[in-house]
Amino acid sequence: MMKQKKCIIIGAGIGGLATAVRMAARNYSVIVLEKNNRPGGKIHQIQRDGFRFDTGPSLFTLPNLVTELLDLGSDSSGSKFRFKKLKNVCRYFYDDGTTINVPENPTDFAKEIEKKTGEPAENILNYLKTASDRYLSSADLFIFNSLKNIISSARKKQPGELMPLLKVKPLRTMHNENQRIFRSPQVIQIFDRYATYNGSSPYKASSMLNMIAHLEHNEGAFFPEKGMYSIVEAVYQKALSLGVEFKFEKKVTGLTSKDGRITKVIADEEEFNADLVISDMDVNTFYRDSGRRLKMPRSVRKPSLSSSALIFYWGMRRSFPQLDVHNILFSSDYAGEFRSIFKEHQLFDDPTVYIFISSKIVESDAPKGQENWFVMINAPSTDQAGMQDSVDKARRKIIEKIQRTLKFDPQPDILFEEVATPQTIETNTGSWKGALYGNNSNSIWSAFLRHQNKSKEFGNLFFTGGSVHPGGGIPLCLASAAIVEKEIEQL
Ligand SMILES: Cc1cc2nc3c(=O)[nH]c(=O)nc-3n(C[C@H](O)[C@H](O)[C@H](O)COP(=O)(O)OP(=O)(O)OC[C@H]3O[C@@H](n4cnc5c(N)ncnc54)[C@H](O)[C@@H]3O)c2cc1C
Repeated sequence: MMKQKKCIIIGAGIGGLATAVRMAARNYSVIVLEKNNRPGGKIHQIQRDGFRFDTGPSLFTLPNLVTELLDLGSDSSGSKFRFKKLKNVCRYFYDDGTTINVPENPTDFAKEIEKKTGEPAENILNYLKTASDRYLSSADLFIFNSLKNIISSARKKQPGELMPLLKVKPLRTMHNENQRIFRSPQVIQIFDRYATYNGSSPYKASSMLNMIAHLEHNEGAFFPEKGMYSIVEAVYQKALSLGVEFKFEKKVTGLTSKDGRITKVIADEEEFNADLVISDMDVNTFYRDSGRRLKMPRSVRKPSLSSSALIFYWGMRRSFPQLDVHNILFSSDYAGEFRSIFKEHQLFDDPTVYIFISSKIVESDAPKGQENWFVMINAPSTDQAGMQDSVDKARRKIIEKIQRTLKFDPQPDILFEEVATPQTIETNTGSWKGALYGNNSNSIWSAFLRHQNKSKEFGNLFFTGGSVHPGGGIPLCLASAAIVEKEIEQL
């Protein structure tokens, strides 16, 4: 019998788990080394006093990427993973008292916008159609393809073939394009917000990213029946069923190499032989912590990081019918907020507040009549110690914002609180300075400067997860796993 090739995966985030499933389905012998005592990385949960909180991602798009993964190999478990399409994608609140509800149907959404802001419904529908056309014509080339192939196919194209891509006006920022299309500042703010889906600023990111709106509005926003952590549980179980071996509380501290190949991975003084090594660690942390003087690509030497977050998890004594699953209380100075995060590296005094309440859809996530609030503001990625003063101030600002916008004081109803800061995110997941999505997309070149999935230095070293190509967020991490699989098949 042919000897199975050994594949070591560093990190059991969603990118590492998905890559483990793919490699095991291809009959590799797979070992995952994870520093924590659990799988999931940034996708994690807190359980306390009858409440359950998803602590990281809350928005779930493109669920077919999860079911396709679960259907790999002989034991297909995709149909056992249950999720629902949300009837309302989001609810937006502004300081002037305007509330905009976003029903899943684009026509109903467009009508609601026209009613609340005067922006013609037709403008919204045209915008979403353009976002859809752009996504469908570019996703296979830009998302589900290796960076090397993207660059070489762009080089091979005739100028005429590149014209449709240039129609997108990539040199324009998201905000500039949205400002040209819409009259209502409130509508511009809704569509500018999609830059935060990969931790970027709408005032810097290319208008190419406007296609993100397609995912939520045309494809839909979904939610797993048992919460976001059930995505990890399903993929982890799938990996186990394919024979993947997990070693928890094993922190990788070094690699050994010979003749341009990684030969061993060292974790807590134990050595693991490897034919292939795939890192799901934040790529910036990987280069700095792997115990070797690896050649750092430019994007790692001078990383331009995505935003981080400050999150309060509040067990709430009662329920709040005016809120939905996803709620945004917009800053009245959006440009100031992004300047503060990306230029001044400070929390902003009038932050946009995101309140996510999974118990609105997963009843068991809070005791009857109560709610689990995940209250998040954008924060700069930082390793500054002593953030406690800023945390206390931010809590006050958030409460003032809720009082001003929603017209009630949440404080008396907070039963308990847990907090996540850029520092705790870094400690818990190894994410450099707590950045949620690796590098940001605050330049037209960002997509091309992301770290590639295959090492240029070592023939058997690969990278998966949200800090490398094609980017952060669960769908892109799942895409990175598929790209790594393809790259390995081509060896
Ligand atoms: C607060 C927050 C909100 C978010 N919101 C959304 C959202 O709504 N929707 C969405 O799609 N995405 C969202 N994201 C982003 C999404 O969570 C990430 O893109 C994705 O989970 C990253 O997965 P990953 O595989 O890259 O690795 P990670 O989840 O970062 O996992 C990396 C793993 O590597 C392990 N590790 C690190 N160093 C070592 C070492 N030396 N040895 C062994 N193991 C190591 C870590 O412990 C960790 O388990 C959010 C993230 C956060 C934090």
